Amino acid sequence: CLTSTENLSGPQPREYNQFLCSICLDVFTDPVSIPCGHNFCKTCITEYWNINVQCQCPVCKRLYNMRPELQINTFISEMAAQFRQSAQQKTSSSSSEQQDVKPEVHQMIQKRRLKIEEIKASVQLSNKDADREIAEGVQVFTALKESVERGFLFTVLTESCLLRR
Ligand SMILES: [Zn+2]
Ligand SMILES: [Zn+2]
Repeated sequence: CLTSTENLSGPQPREYNQFLCSICLDVFTDPVSIPCGHNFCKTCITEYWNINVQCQCPVCKRLYNMRPELQINTFISEMAAQFRQSAQQKTSSSSSEQQDVKPEVHQMIQKRRLKIEEIKASVQLSNKDADREIAEGVQVFTALKESVERGFLFTVLTESCLLRR
């Protein structure tokens, strides 16, 4: 996950956490700041305080005698919106990358198949030699297919790993 992170201009994992509500574990919706400095979605903290008898910060456990006034933090709200947007862009760009890889893999496999067909065609000329060639051809084909698939899988894993953060 480290190699391709450098090339991405999107938010880094550390920033990502700043836009996550610790109650719903999602990107903030109408983020509010409470006096201890922790931020939550307005609905999340309101519900949390409705359920719990005491007004307490779910993160640092600071107690409030009075329920603090909840004002939407416009700065965080904008940052969260931007973050959500860039996360969506990243999702769409990575899916197009996957589409780029597929035809390439397909083409390579197709080429190998043609080669094997050629070898098969020569079977009629010389059975003994062709058998050996087919075996070799299949081996190359399998090895190539495996390495291509592994490379592709790695790309997918890297992408999904980045997205999960
Ligand atoms: Zn929330
Ligand atoms: Zn707190």
